[in-house]
Amino acid sequence: MSNNNKKLGTKFIHAGTVPDPSTGAIMTPIYQTSTYVQAAPGVNQGYEYARSQNPTRKALEDAFAIIENGKHGLAFSSGVAATDAVIKLLNPGDEVICANDMYGGTYRLFTKVFEKYGIKFIYVDTTDVQNIQAAVTAKTKLIWIETPTNPLMNITDIAATAKISKAAGAILCVDNTFASPYLQNPLNLGADIVMHSATKYLGGHSDVIQGALMLNDDTLRDQLYFIQKSCGAVPGPMDCFLVLRGIKTLHVRMKAHCENGIIVANFLRNHPKVERVYWCGFEDHPNNDIAKAQMRGFGGMMSFVLKDDSIAAANKVLTSTKLFALAESLGGVESLINHPATMTHASIPREERIKNGLADGLIRLSVGIEDAEDLVEDLRVAIEAN
Ligand SMILES: *Cc1c(COP(=O)(O)O)cnc(C)c1O
Repeated sequence: MSNNNKKLGTKFIHAGTVPDPSTGAIMTPIYQTSTYVQAAPGVNQGYEYARSQNPTRKALEDAFAIIENGKHGLAFSSGVAATDAVIKLLNPGDEVICANDMYGGTYRLFTKVFEKYGIKFIYVDTTDVQNIQAAVTAKTKLIWIETPTNPLMNITDIAATAKISKAAGAILCVDNTFASPYLQNPLNLGADIVMHSATKYLGGHSDVIQGALMLNDDTLRDQLYFIQKSCGAVPGPMDCFLVLRGIKTLHVRMKAHCENGIIVANFLRNHPKVERVYWCGFEDHPNNDIAKAQMRGFGGMMSFVLKDDSIAAANKVLTSTKLFALAESLGGVESLINHPATMTHASIPREERIKNGLADGLIRLSVGIEDAEDLVEDLRVAIEAN
């Protein structure tokens, strides 16, 4: 697409939107319609029925392609619906190599929904790509990675994984939700498909549920479009409008998330009551060199544990913040605080959770774009309440 070589801010603001042909409206209208009147049977303007095509969704899908430097974009009614569409490319007997530290909803979809259709999921520690290589078989059809991960901020080398995937003749799909296209573009590093929960940074205002796929390959796009219209998990035009609007300020918001992220991560690290901070921007983060090579910044997601790593001590912090709201989700302008063990990751058995490094006392933050001084003070008071 012609916008692909523009700088990030220009690209995000102009992505997908053209003045409305019928009125000149600068914002793409919310085409709240289910069907389109045809001039004669089969004679139409490219729009027949809104599950298959909608002009607001079309503008957003064009934007999705542009912001990830891809050729094609597809919008879904949620992030997990986008993931669901990718897995529906597979057949019984096919194998998927995926991270042992993925978004809980992705893990649930793979194990509880798709395993029974005969698709095999192999979970490995993808932070060392040798583990991915070692799991490849003749049946490997898809490699699914997420980087950085939720909530431990682990990093996987996308370019190295893409090489393994190509040699195996598999599709590489990267869940790029945590980084957003402002910080990381997996298609440029050799990935075949990028997936986003647009609910998070793309929407950016905690007011919509939506998913996205971005890719280059025409055949793969046709297959995924077929699944999108056949299975029907499409977003409504109002939701498409909201995400289209969100994308226009993505660069401004992400810049602020990154700036606040650095301040909050360093504050936590230097606090005597904090044992450990998980944030991929620290020089001594295990894969900081890879993070630096494949990302433009480190964003506002991080986790930490107190020296007193009991659930009770964590609870005190979780219930004492005034600005950080206790809630699931992430990526909105407002700061959120979350307790993975009892909230987002409660469905994982405790033993499994601890084995994967997810301690009882782990606290996850989605650092918003409020003033950093206020956020630090809010956390300081809450941590010292113990
Ligand atoms: C939220 C999230 C999803 C799922 O997206 P929904 O929009 O909630 O369906 C997938 N991956 C990651 C990393 C997420 O944070």
